[in-house]
Amino acid sequence: MTAPAAADLLAWYDRHRRALPWRAVAGERADPYRVWASEIMLQQTTVTAVKPYYERFMARFPTVEALAAAPSEDVMQAWAGLGYYSRARNLHACAIAVMGEHRGRFPDTEEGLRALPGIGAYTAGAVAAIAFDRPAAAVDGNVERVMTRLFAITDELPGARPLVRERVLNLMPPGRPGDFAQALMDLGATICTPRNPACGLCPWREPCVARRSGTQESFPRKAPKKAGVIRHGAAFVLLRQDGALLLRTRPPKGLLGGMAEVPTSEWRAGYELDGAAQDAPFVTRWHRLNPPVRHVFTHFPLELTVFRAEAPADTAAPPGMRFTPREDLGREPFPSVMLKVLETAGFGPSGR
Ligand code: SF4
Repeated sequence: MTAPAAADLLAWYDRHRRALPWRAVAGERADPYRVWASEIMLQQTTVTAVKPYYERFMARFPTVEALAAAPSEDVMQAWAGLGYYSRARNLHACAIAVMGEHRGRFPDTEEGLRALPGIGAYTAGAVAAIAFDRPAAAVDGNVERVMTRLFAITDELPGARPLVRERVLNLMPPGRPGDFAQALMDLGATICTPRNPACGLCPWREPCVARRSGTQESFPRKAPKKAGVIRHGAAFVLLRQDGALLLRTRPPKGLLGGMAEVPTSEWRAGYELDGAAQDAPFVTRWHRLNPPVRHVFTHFPLELTVFRAEAPADTAAPPGMRFTPREDLGREPFPSVMLKVLETAGFGPSGR
C-alpha cells in the first residue's frame, strides 16, 4: 500500500481549490486580517452561511484598525445572526490588542497568535499556516474526519486530537504549508464529507485505510455527547402605542453577552409558567402566544413562551430598559433566539 503524500493532495488542490472571498488567489499572500476574521466566523458555521456576513463585515470594517476603532455595539450588530456571541466580543478585543500591542500587525507565529484574545489552537494554526506559511497544523472537524479515515484512527475524539495533529504535521510539505492546510480543509468540505464521501475523486483514495476496508463512515469515532437539560422561560413583548418596543441589553459577559432582548424571566429547567406574571416588566394584560419559541444553544435546548401586551404612548421604560422606536429595531443586535420571539409576536423580518 502506498503512503499518503502531500504532493498528491496539493496537485488536486491546484486544480480544484475553492474560490472563497477571504482566500488569496493562487500565488498571492493572504491578508492575515481577512484570514483571521473568516476563521473566527467559520467556527461552528458553514461556508455558505458565513459568506454574506463576511462580505458585509469586511465592507463595514475593512481593516483591523477600523474594527478596533468601532464601538462594540456596531461589532455586535454586524455579527448578529452568526451566533456564539462571545466570539464577536473576542474578535473586537483581539483587534484592539493587535492595534495596541502589535502596532496593527498580527503576530506571525502560532505562539504569538495564541496569546491574543479568542485565538485557540485551531485558529492560531490556520492563520499561521495560511497567512504566514508557517508549518502549523489547523485541525478542525473536516481535518479530523479526513485524517481519522486516512489512517483508520480508532481512538475517540476529542482524545484523538493530538494524534491527528501529529499525523498532519508529519505529512506537511516544507514548501507550501498554507496551501496544504487549505487543501485539507477543502478535501474535508467537498470530497471527504460526513456522508457518502466521494472516494473515487479523492487524491488519497489509494493510501486511505478506511476506504480499503469500506469503513469510511464509521470515522471519526466520537465519545458520546451528553444532551443538555431543556430550560424554559417567558419572554415579554411590550409594544407602546407609538410603535416603540421595550428592550434591554444582556450583561456583557456570558451567554449572548451584550446582545439586545425583550425582557424575559430566568431560563431554567422546571420553570413554571403559572408564575410568569411576576417576571413581567409591567402589570398589564399579557396575551400568551403560541407556539412557544424553541432554540438550541450549545449546552442546552430552550423553550420560551412569548407574551405580548400594549402600553400607552407616554409609558416610561423601567430602569435598565429602553423603548426602541420601530424604525430603529433593525439596528438592535438581536440574537437568533430573539428574532424568533419577535417573529412570534408579529415582528417578523417584514414587520421590523
Ligand atoms: S478515500 Fe474517501 S474516506 Fe479516504 S480520505 Fe479520501 S474521501 Fe476520505
